[in-house]
Amino acid sequence: METIGRNDACWCGSGKKYKKCHCQFDEKLKELQQEGHIIPSHDMIKTPEQIEKIKESGKINIAVLDYVAEHIKAGVTTQQIDDWVYEQTTSRGAIPAPLNYEGFPKSVCTSVNDQVCHGIPSEDVVLQEGDIINVDVSTIYHGYFSDSSRMFCIGEVSKEKKKLVDVTKECVEIGLKNVKPWGLLGDMGHAVHMHAVENGYTVVKEIGGHGVGLQFHEDPYVSYVSEPGTGMVMAPGMMFTIEPMVNMGTDEFYVDEVDEWQIYTDDGQPSAQWEVQVLVTEDGYELIAY
Ligand SMILES: [Zn+2]
Repeated sequence: METIGRNDACWCGSGKKYKKCHCQFDEKLKELQQEGHIIPSHDMIKTPEQIEKIKESGKINIAVLDYVAEHIKAGVTTQQIDDWVYEQTTSRGAIPAPLNYEGFPKSVCTSVNDQVCHGIPSEDVVLQEGDIINVDVSTIYHGYFSDSSRMFCIGEVSKEKKKLVDVTKECVEIGLKNVKPWGLLGDMGHAVHMHAVENGYTVVKEIGGHGVGLQFHEDPYVSYVSEPGTGMVMAPGMMFTIEPMVNMGTDEFYVDEVDEWQIYTDDGQPSAQWEVQVLVTEDGYELIAY
């Protein structure tokens, strides 16, 4: 942590004197670090101005997913979903963050049934009655990033799939309840994991959530297979995603060898994921995108 005088301007850019701004905050973090905890760096703490701008991005992300929710149904191709997301995002003056991200070819990820994540929209994938699909939308607005995803059940789905989708949503809700200022990410992830396990499911270990806001993917990495009492301290101003990938069968998966993006469960059983973007506040959390 940098040395800063009590009467100097605070590192957060508020213009206030350090002693009247983040001085106590830093002292609290230092205490927690001395107790052996991992603490966030200052660049993981969003300023109020940044938070306002990220929220604007989040509103677009939510609106795009609302549009998808209204129109998705059997017979729609995942390419059509991609077209909707591109149109709904750009018509609001924003950019779909996935498009050309590290070579990703489309504006949204659409992961159907046994696809765990990073499904690539295609004319060839026609949604059928009984499918479950994750639609993962990410938006850049005036340089600020938002990221959230939802599951959709196409028509009547089996009660097994419906339960997977519902329990995965509950996992995210339980994660949110565990977002507490000065709490630990590991406690949050553990609570998410336990709810999945109690329902007979597994959670993907190697792919998790992330910080988000100024970049698409920022530190910290957020695991949903974690031990209590571990992980980074959640300090007010941190922003990250809660997005467990919950599998009906094994947590093992493989990556498509041809496109090197699409991820599938090893056993072909379904996988579900919901994602929210959350801000840690002084007294709990605030949802930025869902
Ligand atoms: Zn400050």
